Amino acid sequence: MLEKSYQEFYDKISQKIDKKAIFTDKLHILAYGTDASFYRLIPKIVIKVNKAEQVQDILKLSNDLNLSVTFRAAGTSLSGQAISDSILIVTSRDFKEFRLNEDKSEISLQPSITGQEANNILAPYGKKIGPDPASINACMIGGIAANNASGMCCGISQNSYKTLKSMKLIFNDGTKLNTACSNSKKEFRKSHGKFLEDLLKLSKNTKENENLRKKIEKKYKIKNTCGYSLNALIDFDDEFEILQHLIIGSEGTLAFIEEITYYTVEDYKDKASALIYFKDVKEACSAVTKLKLAKENRSISVDAVELMDRAGLRSIENDPAMPSFIKDFDDEVTALLIETRAIDNKNLDIQIEQIENLLKEFKVVKDIYFTKDVKEYTLYWKIRKGLFPAVGAVRENGTTVIIEDVAYPIECLAQATLELQELFRKHNYSEALIFGHALEGNFHFVFTQDFSIPSEVKRYDEFMNDVVSSVALKYQGSLKAEHGTGRNMASFVEIEWGKTAYDMMKKIKNLFDPKNLLNPGVIINDDKQAHLKDLKALPQTNELVDKCIECGFCEPTCPSNDLSLTPRQRIVINREISRLKRLGEEKEAKEYEKLYQYDGIETCATCSLCSSACPVKIDTGSLTKYLRAEQITSKENFLASKIADNFSLTLGTMKFGLKSSNAFHEILGTSNMKKVSSKARKLSKNSIPKWSPYLPKAININTKFEQKTQDKKVVYFPSCINRTMGRNSKTSVDEELFDVTIKLLKKAGFEILFPKNLKTLCCGMPFSSKGFNTQAKQKSDELEKELQEISKNGLYPILCDTSPCTKKMLEGFTSELKIYEPIKFTMEFLVKHLDFKSIDEPITIHTTCSSRKMGLEEDFIKLAQMCSSKVIIPKDVKCCGFAGDRGFTYPELNKSALRNLKNEIKDVKYAFSTSKTCEIGLSEYSGLDYNSIFYLINQVTIAKNN
Ligand SMILES: Cc1cc2nc3c(=O)[nH]c(=O)nc-3n(C[C@H](O)[C@H](O)[C@H](O)COP(=O)(O)OP(=O)(O)OC[C@H]3O[C@@H](n4cnc5c(N)ncnc54)[C@H](O)[C@@H]3O)c2cc1C
Ligand code: SF4
Ligand code: SF4
Repeated sequence: MLEKSYQEFYDKISQKIDKKAIFTDKLHILAYGTDASFYRLIPKIVIKVNKAEQVQDILKLSNDLNLSVTFRAAGTSLSGQAISDSILIVTSRDFKEFRLNEDKSEISLQPSITGQEANNILAPYGKKIGPDPASINACMIGGIAANNASGMCCGISQNSYKTLKSMKLIFNDGTKLNTACSNSKKEFRKSHGKFLEDLLKLSKNTKENENLRKKIEKKYKIKNTCGYSLNALIDFDDEFEILQHLIIGSEGTLAFIEEITYYTVEDYKDKASALIYFKDVKEACSAVTKLKLAKENRSISVDAVELMDRAGLRSIENDPAMPSFIKDFDDEVTALLIETRAIDNKNLDIQIEQIENLLKEFKVVKDIYFTKDVKEYTLYWKIRKGLFPAVGAVRENGTTVIIEDVAYPIECLAQATLELQELFRKHNYSEALIFGHALEGNFHFVFTQDFSIPSEVKRYDEFMNDVVSSVALKYQGSLKAEHGTGRNMASFVEIEWGKTAYDMMKKIKNLFDPKNLLNPGVIINDDKQAHLKDLKALPQTNELVDKCIECGFCEPTCPSNDLSLTPRQRIVINREISRLKRLGEEKEAKEYEKLYQYDGIETCATCSLCSSACPVKIDTGSLTKYLRAEQITSKENFLASKIADNFSLTLGTMKFGLKSSNAFHEILGTSNMKKVSSKARKLSKNSIPKWSPYLPKAININTKFEQKTQDKKVVYFPSCINRTMGRNSKTSVDEELFDVTIKLLKKAGFEILFPKNLKTLCCGMPFSSKGFNTQAKQKSDELEKELQEISKNGLYPILCDTSPCTKKMLEGFTSELKIYEPIKFTMEFLVKHLDFKSIDEPITIHTTCSSRKMGLEEDFIKLAQMCSSKVIIPKDVKCCGFAGDRGFTYPELNKSALRNLKNEIKDVKYAFSTSKTCEIGLSEYSGLDYNSIFYLINQVTIAKNN
């Protein structure tokens, strides 16, 4: 039951916004209660918005009812600024339009475009956005701008503050302002004249207060996201410039960002990096100071300098990509990872030489070596970016990993860093490590913390108080350099800035949000203990996911992220269920379990794509499979065993079903068939699978055909799907995949062998995805045995025509068989025997999750480009969400995952993939006829020397 005022809000807002986008149930409010910080608040109401008008409606109403609101983009914030115990407004993943100006020097972005998506749009023009947080793949423009997020290269010259052109904003009373539009500004002047006058007064007072002005100038010489962007008051005279620059870094406490226009920056492709090992931290920091001064006087060009202390190096020294000698370093050695970028290779060489010369005077323990090898330097940067999660992965279960984010004036870097290390020792944070953007004086330190014991919370508090004294008072540094103030540093803003500046910040907040309804408690908070309240524990739940640090990096890849829950949210709910069970709160745990069934279990595609984006490699799909297995009844288990034992009979029944539905289709026609089947599905409460015009027809394959004996032999294992399901009634292809594959293999000069008992064979995936692990193993073992025999224990390569089945075989088999799916098999065995004559028709491909996980994404694109001169890859589609056969029973997952597909492939004529079931859903939601890539390869090739 909602409290009265929230109920009133709910009743009124649900007249304007679809109820499906408004959540008040306990599952969703808990799931959205989490951001990447170590704080938690549970909102009363969560609303997903995708239009400015919706935000206006919400803000007007919440203002009338005096209810506070918090905005949420990707929820990757680390300081507790994206959570709420009131109304949480989440910008949905569809709030993502963009515009480029003609010369691509400006890009306008709506709030839900991720930083990486923005860079993908700009990449073809050699440009990128300025801000470059390490979380760029997941975090969104709204959060990047509102946090003034920055990263390894952008420093203080290319952050949101410095690259901002204009903004569209919505204020607490619902008023809109477009700072790029003179009419909008005129209107705003009319309605908010007094507000603008007061803003100019604040600016004037600040400019006239010499002490304050000088302090602001000094503090923004290094990165600073602690408190409001006071530099806006002294950097500009125009009231709209002051206003929009104050919004940068305001963490959703002043206004809603509907759109931001950035000036883009150059993205030089010629780069080189060096990982340089100094004798100790002092030596490394002194080198940084020298590099910084040389950069400022333009005698060198250096783009990034990242420091990793010995503890940091130790956490990654066992990574196979790291040089083995690191393990032998003594306890003081400190590394700098340096990157320089140039307009061309010649300039790059000059820049490298200049940096090497400058560093000659410093004591290094290994020779300096710059690499231009993309693979090599990408690996170094990947490892550096993985430092924070690396600590997360080795922490004790139940503890939280904390990352702090301070900046020092560059001249005191060495001394301050030594003092920080001393504080680790004083407070017994022996595992703590330091790394960060040294060139900007910005260091992150990472440590693990248990918040479940009062004495541990006390230790954290004492440590933080010492850190605040050292960073803010002694060295006049920034308590937050790039992660934002949040709840974490709100209690300390006054200590860092002093009373006058803090009062100025309070006046800013009061001017924009006099009722304190926009993200209260963040940035301005008079509670001196705020940093110790609403702490989030990470209770154990299942070792498959216990290492999760709730960072949210997995969310963009998940096909159910818009339909039900994300991987992070699935883990959050499981943690809560386990916690409740441990407390004996069975009834409440059961309530969560009930709600979790659909959102968590049924609508997970078990595609494991989350693990590829997860810094600690957590596969939430495996948790889902585990939970599905736990729910299997003995009756279901018995049935599954029967099916496994009589597999050819099962396939026969499936064929019968396909035949019947196709027969009905022929009689009723597509439109009537759709109506009848959807009615039947409704009546059966969705237990009858969804019918689609792209549903394949039943087929029989013939493995007994004439062929010559050849030296080159291949074992062909057509998956059970491709042995049963043929072409659909709408397709334009006139042969079955099996026949096309045979033609192709023969064309390349192969003799084709088939496993005995083919009719009964299956990789086991239909069983394992539903949690029937015993039956899956049984089928996998049977298949392995047959393939061992026919391939002469791996002498001949084995081709499976379906990528997901191939991956299952590779994972499940223990013997050394050479197993290939279509992409890799073509590249390795067919290309050398075939001549390709590419077509000029635009085509698209869909790389299945399994192919992605097997690292075949690039190869598939290459292969497609050998077949067509126009290959279009939809950027917004990852897992198709069909999930084996789940697309028949939960078609909404497939639909949601593919909601952007049609738009992205407007001009495409032909579409290809490597998995029949994925192709059914892809065809349905694109309107194109997706087929196996073998069709196209067969069409565009002739045998060599013919
Ligand atoms: C592993 C890891 C590494 C990170 N590395 C970095 C880094 O290198 N540099 C860095 O700066 N940060 C880093 N972060 C922190 C965080 O990812 C960034 O600050 C990021 O920009 C936050 O964006 P978001 O989309 O997640 O925003 P959210 O967390 O959802 O929101 C951030 C703030 O913006 C407000 N907000 C969101 N949308 C709007 C809107 N439309 N209008 C107004 N206010 C809005 C929210 O209320 C909140 O206060 C890291 C985080 C993690 C987990
Ligand atoms: S599963 Fe991995 S990526 Fe997702 S929130 Fe947890 S740690 Fe982050
Ligand atoms: S397995 Fe796939 S659907 Fe399931 S949580 Fe991971 S990404 Fe999402």
